[in-house]
Amino acid sequence: MTQSPPQTAIIIGSGIGGLGLAGMLAKKGIAVTVLEKNPLPGGRANLITKDGFRFDKGPSWYLMPDVFEHWYNLVGEDVNKHLDLRRLDPSYRIIFRDQNNRAVDLHSDVSRDNVLFEELEPGSSKKLTKYLASSGYQYEIAKESFMYRQFDKPSDLFNWYTLIEGSKLHVFESMHKYVSRYFKNPMLQQILEYQMVFLGTSPYETPALYNLLSFIDFEMGVWYPMGGIYTIIESLVRIAEKHGTVIRTNTEVQSILITDGKATGVRLADGTELHADIVVSNADVHHTDTKLLPTEYRQKSDAYWESRVLAPSGFILYLGVKGKLPQLTHHNLVFPDQWKEGFDALFHDPKWIDRPSYYLCAPSTTDPSVAPADHENLFLLVPISTKLEYDDTFLEEYKQKMIALIAKDFEIPDLAERIVVEQTYSIKDFKRDYHSLGGSGLGLAHTLMQTAIFRPNNFHPKVRDLYYVGAGTNPGIGMPICLISAETVYKRIIGNKSRQPLTSL
Ligand SMILES: Cc1cc2nc3c(=O)[nH]c(=O)nc-3n(C[C@H](O)[C@H](O)[C@H](O)COP(=O)(O)OP(=O)(O)OC[C@H]3O[C@@H](n4cnc5c(N)ncnc54)[C@H](O)[C@@H]3O)c2cc1C
Repeated sequence: MTQSPPQTAIIIGSGIGGLGLAGMLAKKGIAVTVLEKNPLPGGRANLITKDGFRFDKGPSWYLMPDVFEHWYNLVGEDVNKHLDLRRLDPSYRIIFRDQNNRAVDLHSDVSRDNVLFEELEPGSSKKLTKYLASSGYQYEIAKESFMYRQFDKPSDLFNWYTLIEGSKLHVFESMHKYVSRYFKNPMLQQILEYQMVFLGTSPYETPALYNLLSFIDFEMGVWYPMGGIYTIIESLVRIAEKHGTVIRTNTEVQSILITDGKATGVRLADGTELHADIVVSNADVHHTDTKLLPTEYRQKSDAYWESRVLAPSGFILYLGVKGKLPQLTHHNLVFPDQWKEGFDALFHDPKWIDRPSYYLCAPSTTDPSVAPADHENLFLLVPISTKLEYDDTFLEEYKQKMIALIAKDFEIPDLAERIVVEQTYSIKDFKRDYHSLGGSGLGLAHTLMQTAIFRPNNFHPKVRDLYYVGAGTNPGIGMPICLISAETVYKRIIGNKSRQPLTSL
């Protein structure tokens, strides 16, 4: 922390963490400048507009509405005045390819979801109630005592409180083992495990504490802001600018300036130097560490970065399709022929799979504004290993295969002929657009050894007034989680040591 409260701040990167922090600091009266290399703010939560389509480039699930609401309240705003939120029903649809493409809808309404559970495993609805009660309890503990706190030293993680409460969080058991103790039916297991992909990891490796995602999914609902996810970014920009933040796009930072062990500003790619009392990097931590910091201030070795477990990258397709597609709901998940092998191909035995697990989002089924009349807006995401290689010819062929697979899985035989807009996006694009290590979509996966005290911290221990915000630091991946990261680093900057969410700025 600076000796006196900072008057000026530079934030490198306008991802949701960077913008969230900008809004908080600016509301507190600090003059904030956000520097973003890309043409549009938003980071991975970006936007592609083409021929009347408005494609959300990355995130599409609005989860943890309580966390968003809390952030907006803190900066004196009403989330509902900024976002026109709708609760989706069904929350999502799953197609089980190994069950002859059986489709099931999940509703985030236990009284309705119980029917499916009972059908698949008699007696399981009672177990679901118990499972969710435990997930809900864990979510509250995590929110009140873990997510908003700093992790600076081993005792911040390993103390009596966390050992007692943490033992209830099932930190040392894998998610798959934990779920298998409750449910025997593989379809039910998969329904409760698929969320691990949100964390960039596999249920066989993720600590079971993340079963709190089931509570978020089943009890809090899946929401959508009309106009698309990018309206969240637009509102964060609006709030930050209202309090005087200057956001400069197409402005790449080349290095962080350090004088006598203190961050003093940045040098831009064009050589201009900008100065501020504090510097915060929202860029990926690997990029900050290896490219923006002078060598003597690097925190981690090449060996450290090479040994990181990266969340998968993605093969992404943005498709504009002529005519309506009643076969689809807003969120559609297709589970693969072989569940465990799919995760192995992501993390242990990298390969392109011809019939992979995938996610297909059709926001235009909820929101006509994201596509021209009588068209659908589709986003396909196939999680893939960051270790895969490809060239343009391969990507084109894979695209054709995936379009044929969607056509088959969802019985849309003329899909290919109806496509009017298409764009692919993959590993190389993540590297180019976000300086992402390995081209990962999400960054550092949430394995146990990359969580809490083991995740890069939100400040530099040897450079005063240099901070980090976003998915690469604590608590981790996901839009609401990055807003929590913003609040945690905000607390560090203003010297607030509480473990709990703030009640005011
Ligand atoms: C395909 C995909 C789907 C996802 N789905 C969901 C979802 O459904 N729900 C959800 O909650 N989350 C989802 N996520 C995760 C979520 O999008 C991210 O965790 C979150 O947006 C990351 O925000 P961040 O604050 O870490 O910043 P980032 O989004 O990583 O932004 C960092 C910014 O820094 C900029 N930058 C980097 N280097 C420099 C430099 N040298 N100079 C200037 N600027 C620089 C980059 O251009 C970028 O704009 C998804 C992510 C992806 C990729």
